[in-house]
Amino acid sequence: MTQFYLTTAIDYSNGEPHIGHAYEKIGADAIARYHRLRGDDVHFLIGMDEHGQKVEQTAVQQGIEPQALVDALAARFSAMWKRLDISYDQFMRTTDAMHRSGVRALIERILDKNPDDFYEKAYEGWYCVGCEAFKQDAEILDGKCMLHPTRTLEWVEERNWFFRLSRYADFLRTLLTESATFLQPESRRNEMLALIDRGLEDVSASRSRLAWGIPFPKPLSSGEQQTTYVWFDALPNYLTATGFPDQSGPAKWPAQLHVVGKDITRFHTIIWPAMLKAAELPLPERVWGHGFVLFGGERFSKSSGVKLDVDEAISRHGADAFRYFLLREVPFDGDGSFTYERFEERYNADLANSWGNLASRVIAMVEKYRGGLVPDGAFDDNDRLDTADINAYHSAMGGFLLHEALNRAMACVARGNETVQASQPWALAKATDDRSRTALDAILSLLVRQLARQAILLAPFMPSKAQTVWEQIGGPGSIHDQRFEHLTSLSAAGWSVKKGESLFPKDI
Ligand SMILES: [Zn+2]
Repeated sequence: MTQFYLTTAIDYSNGEPHIGHAYEKIGADAIARYHRLRGDDVHFLIGMDEHGQKVEQTAVQQGIEPQALVDALAARFSAMWKRLDISYDQFMRTTDAMHRSGVRALIERILDKNPDDFYEKAYEGWYCVGCEAFKQDAEILDGKCMLHPTRTLEWVEERNWFFRLSRYADFLRTLLTESATFLQPESRRNEMLALIDRGLEDVSASRSRLAWGIPFPKPLSSGEQQTTYVWFDALPNYLTATGFPDQSGPAKWPAQLHVVGKDITRFHTIIWPAMLKAAELPLPERVWGHGFVLFGGERFSKSSGVKLDVDEAISRHGADAFRYFLLREVPFDGDGSFTYERFEERYNADLANSWGNLASRVIAMVEKYRGGLVPDGAFDDNDRLDTADINAYHSAMGGFLLHEALNRAMACVARGNETVQASQPWALAKATDDRSRTALDAILSLLVRQLARQAILLAPFMPSKAQTVWEQIGGPGSIHDQRFEHLTSLSAAGWSVKKGESLFPKDI
């Protein structure tokens, strides 16, 4: 089996899960579930970024220990991911012992392989605790970090370990130029190449006077023991999750895909590959920098002050409808908006009136006209048209254009509804001749196998509703154990349908 090891960014332990976190997890989950249906050996990692000055400060403000703060947030986030049916295989926390020892091992390996890559330097500059990063003049507006206008920048003067990132400029330019897929979408790649062309500065790898973190393995020449800088601590989680250095973990390095927000693409496609190169370790195969969920043109995030209660949004129509709406409405290669008005429109038009209605009509007709047993019938042009959409669905999923894949799946749903309208099964059922009887068999057989295909195509997006449809049409076993390779030849003849509760009820 082909390994498909994918990760999301680890979420920073400073506040409640918001819709931006949810969007990334839902998108990555659709990709993970898609690869399972392809038959790949999927390992899906998510987790929490639990160290750093911001966590330490928040714990002090709340009068609790940092560990108590991050424990509570890890429980809160993982409960949210369970509620959203995120099928992760591993939940990494950077306070885990396995991670802490793995980070030390990685830094020691760089010190061993390329000792000149770390050097001591006195540094002074504006530090944004929100970003956990030093900010350059171009990133500062009116004395504030452009990403965190509500925070006060700190003037920091300290002597740190620095990582010689500048040495890797040519390596990174080649990496980004020669591989069309290492970083996508393409707009992100162009941004990174422009950044490299402006010149890469070395980055701090350690901090002083910070207790909440992983001790940097090598003291300064003064003897001072420093703490690993938070990005040097966080990025290796994808590697330490494999049990690095002894590879005893559940997945094997390298990862096939990192799914991250466009705001941290720089860390994942500049700093992270340079760290791995310095350690003489393989690079992740692909990085996807998704866009943001906007509200009234503003990004949802803790710092922007734009708020939407994710629990409330999920409660509106359940987790599957929420997942569907976000991935249909917000293109995975760009930005998109969340509004309740649009959510209601999509729910009613796409889910209740289109897919839900089709499933309920088809099941009712098979029960009424054929006693619940799906008849046999020859494949026809509708199957060939479905196959064309299925092929386009696979191309879209292969390129992580999840919204495009959903369009194709919903085109199959629309075709099912058109088939019902065009064939008028209720008129055929009234006729008593053999030709009408055979024609009705063919239509019902087609409609159920179309529903089966739709359920499989939609399973990565709406795992629970897809399973419900699968059960109602009498599909064997769990839908999540099905394989795409059998999709176009799938026949539902002989299955027993069973009407159940309404798939997408209105007015709840
Ligand atoms: Zn900032």
